[in-house]
Amino acid sequence: MKTVAAETLDTDRIHRIMAVLDEVMDPEIPVVSVTDLGIVRGLSGDPASVLVTPTYTGCPATLAIEASIRLALDSAGFGDIGIRTVLSPPWSTGWITDRGRERLRAYGIAPPPDDAAALRSGGGGPVACPRCGSFETVEVSRFGSTPCKALWRCTDCREPFDRFKCH
Ligand SMILES: [Zn+2]
Repeated sequence: MKTVAAETLDTDRIHRIMAVLDEVMDPEIPVVSVTDLGIVRGLSGDPASVLVTPTYTGCPATLAIEASIRLALDSAGFGDIGIRTVLSPPWSTGWITDRGRERLRAYGIAPPPDDAAALRSGGGGPVACPRCGSFETVEVSRFGSTPCKALWRCTDCREPFDRFKCH
């Protein structure tokens, strides 16, 4: 996590703000936080603000995420901290942290590959079933329960599961 310290943001304040953000969960996947997903890129000191990058352009969750961050900051006494949207470089699934990947898997969502080469090839390669770990999986539909996920099925345990789409 890259943070830019400035007079308005001493180390102690940065840690406390990041702790608040760690508790802001994604509205679609309530087990992962905005920091797990890499939606929060860090803090900027001038003016003091949280740098946020939307996951998918047009993803309806984007506005909800910003509203949740605003609410969390306000109720933790950080009403003076702004929220700045940063569109470049664009968010990619490679920004999901290891903790985020583990939480997705535990929730039954196959995390995207973190290997850059796999991302470039459209996330090709075997997809492990988040329930039984089998690689005998097939894509059922590009469209899962939300626009950001695809529907897959495991041919071993026969359970369907969501998979995070890759960019
Ligand atoms: Zn399975």
